[in-house]
Amino acid sequence: MFQACPMRAGFFLAIRKVGVYYELMPLLSLVVPCYNEQEVLHLFMEELTRVAATLGDVQTEVILVNDGSSDNTLAVIRELAGRYDCVRYISFSRNFGKESAMLAGFAAAKGDYVAVMDADLQDPPALLPDMLRAVREEGFDCAGTRRITRKGEPPIRSFFARMFYRLINLISHTQLVDGARDYKLLSRKAVNALLSMPEYNRFSKGLYEWIGFRTKWLEFQNVERVAGETKWSFWKLFKYSLEGIVAFTTFPLALASVLGMLCILVALVIIVTLSVRQILWHSSVDGWTSLVCIIVLLSGLQLFCAGIIGQYISKMYMEIKRRPHYIIAEQSE
Ligand code: UDP
Ligand code: MG
Repeated sequence: MFQACPMRAGFFLAIRKVGVYYELMPLLSLVVPCYNEQEVLHLFMEELTRVAATLGDVQTEVILVNDGSSDNTLAVIRELAGRYDCVRYISFSRNFGKESAMLAGFAAAKGDYVAVMDADLQDPPALLPDMLRAVREEGFDCAGTRRITRKGEPPIRSFFARMFYRLINLISHTQLVDGARDYKLLSRKAVNALLSMPEYNRFSKGLYEWIGFRTKWLEFQNVERVAGETKWSFWKLFKYSLEGIVAFTTFPLALASVLGMLCILVALVIIVTLSVRQILWHSSVDGWTSLVCIIVLLSGLQLFCAGIIGQYISKMYMEIKRRPHYIIAEQSE
């Protein structure tokens, strides 16, 4: 078990001397989801190697998770696993999404501490020493990172992201931090808590908050990816936000009934007014236009509410099927 973990540069033994004793050095696992990242992986490993050498008395293992890439990412990962002894990899049978890739990495990680970070260097490895210190020495179970700027991001995307955070924090008990990245370093306790949640529809920004534990937030300026392009289209992000709302609050369901009750109240007022008018003045109803407006409005409202209920039912349907989160096609020993 005294496994040496050379990042090639900076070979060290995985034991340390404490007083007159020797003990195993703690292990830090780095989980990296990769989807079509052939251009960045070499750069990423170089930067990581540089930072890992400054981490002090910890061993590191890197778990690269190939999320069904359609380019040469898997070949690059195999090559890196051959070159660096501390690199392990998992390769999915198809693209299952970043959430599944992170989950697979967490499940495979053996570390006392586990960090998850993007492959494109948008999550600066240079923050790792501070994150590790927070969890190892300062009594936190989670070190999270948040961008304080969204420089370089399309303004429309930033706008909708801000709106999403405002909305979900308004209607859900689980409070999300605006600008929080998935880039986190967790204690083994926190990782086990995450792994104990088997839900199919995973929205990890919410899961991290839901498990509780003390989190230290480290802030940094937004960094643009070093190469390649983002895998998140506007539509994908929209669906992901819906996932977050449905997974962490049932407020929209309550909203549907509140709207329904409001409509009944308005309808009662209209019924009484029209009946009185008919009885007193025998005036025939001439409001064809208003009738059509009301019918269209109410039908829209009903469909909207049915849609909200449909969202929850569809998520329940996926949960009930209990399909695996991912299927592994190949992995290193
Ligand atoms: N990713 C993944 N599966 C996907 C989409 C993305 O594993 O289906 C990975 C991707 O390789 C990267 C990280 O998730 O390491 C973040 O993706 P990206 O940089 O495209 O997102 P952005 O930073 O633009 O939000
Ligand atoms: Mg990125």
